[in-house]
Amino acid sequence: MHELVGALRSYAWGSRTVLAELCGRPVPSAHPEAELWFGAHPADPAQVHIDGRTESLLEFVAADPQRQLGAVAPEFGGRLPFLLKILAAEEPLSLQAHPSAAQARAGFEQENLQRVPLDSPMRNYRDDSHKPELVVALNRFEALAGFRDPHRTVALLTALAVPELKQYIELLAAQPDSSGLRTVFTTWITLPQAMLDTLLPKVLDGCVHYLAEGHDEFTPEARTILELAEAYPGDAGVLAALLINRITLEPGQGLFLAAGNLHAYLNGVGVEIMANSDNVLRGGLTPKHVDVPELLRVLDFEPLALPIVTAEPVGDCSFRYRTPATEFALRRFELEAGAEPTPIPRTGPGIILCTAGTVRLLQGGGDDLVITPGGAAWISAADTDIRAQAVDGAAQLFCACVGGE
Ligand SMILES: [Zn+2]
Repeated sequence: MHELVGALRSYAWGSRTVLAELCGRPVPSAHPEAELWFGAHPADPAQVHIDGRTESLLEFVAADPQRQLGAVAPEFGGRLPFLLKILAAEEPLSLQAHPSAAQARAGFEQENLQRVPLDSPMRNYRDDSHKPELVVALNRFEALAGFRDPHRTVALLTALAVPELKQYIELLAAQPDSSGLRTVFTTWITLPQAMLDTLLPKVLDGCVHYLAEGHDEFTPEARTILELAEAYPGDAGVLAALLINRITLEPGQGLFLAAGNLHAYLNGVGVEIMANSDNVLRGGLTPKHVDVPELLRVLDFEPLALPIVTAEPVGDCSFRYRTPATEFALRRFELEAGAEPTPIPRTGPGIILCTAGTVRLLQGGGDDLVITPGGAAWISAADTDIRAQAVDGAAQLFCACVGGE
C-alpha cells in the first residue's frame, strides 16, 4: 500500500474553487481545475510515494505487472485497466460518445495507417480500447445522456410551440423509434450554418416563452437548452440536445455510459471511473475536434430509459455500483466516527480515494496510511487485509478495482 497523488487537469469547463476546496488548497485556483486523475494513463499518470521518493504509477506498474496487478495482468496486457477521476464541471462538457471495443480497434488501426500523429488534436482514436464509464455524483450532478423516448420528445417539441419544428415533430410522431431519431439527429447535427442560424433562435424563443408561461413539465429541459446556447452560440449540438434525456443525479447515484451512448455532463462534482482509454467522438458543444460522420457511425439511436445506477448496500457501510464493465468495479464506503476498521474487499489491484473526512488505512503487517479528501492510496494485488477507519468525524471513501465481481 502506497500513497498516491492525483494528476490535476485544467480545462476551461472546470472550477476554480471545487477541487481546491476539496483538497484544502487556497481558492480561487490559478486555473479552472476540471479533473484529478488517479491512474496509469500515459497522458497523465498519478504519482506513487515509495520510501520518500516519487514514481509514476505507469512506470511502477510496468516494472512489475505480476506483483502489482496479480492474476489479471495477462488479461489487460500488463496495464492497469481502469482510470479513476474526481471531476468538477462548472460549464457543460462536449456532446460525445465512445466507441465499442471493435470500433475502437478498427478506428485506431485506420488512423495509424493514415499516419495521424498520436498527439494530434485531429485524432479520434488515441488507443485501441473501448471506454465504458460510470460517474457517481458527490453533489447534485446534471447531465444529458441517451436518446429520450421519442413520444416524450414529441411532447417536448410540441410544448415549445415553434412552428419551424413542425416537420420534425411529424417525422418523430410517425416513426417513434431509432430510425426516426437517427433521421432527426443526423439532419440537425449536419444542418448548414445559415439554416441553423434561422432555426436555433426560434427554438430559443420557444424555450423562453415556455418558461415565462410557468409550465413545469419540461422546465429543466428548456433551461438547459438556453444555457447551452449561451455557452455555445450557433452550435448544432444545442438543437441535438433536445433529443437527449436530461438527468439529475442526487449525491450517491451513478450514471453508466455504455458504448454509443450520446452524452454531455452539464454541471456538478463526481467520482468517475472508466476503462483506461481516451477515445472520444464529439458532435459539438466544444472548441475541441468534432467529427460528426465518425460520431454518427458509433452512435446507438435506440431510445434509452435513464441509465441511472443505484448504489446497492453491501454490509453496513459499503455500497456497490453494478455495471457490465470488466475493466472496473466501484464501491463507496460511508465510514462512521468511532467504528471498528472496515475491510475493503477487492479484485486485483485497487485505488482507494478519500472524498470526505480523514481516513486511516490499515494493512496487515504493514504501516498505516492516513488520507484526507482528494488523497488516495495504491493497493497492489499482493497487498492483503486492507481496512479503513474514520479518524475524527464521518468519512467517505471510494474503492476502485478490476471488474467482474
Ligand atoms: Zn464520456
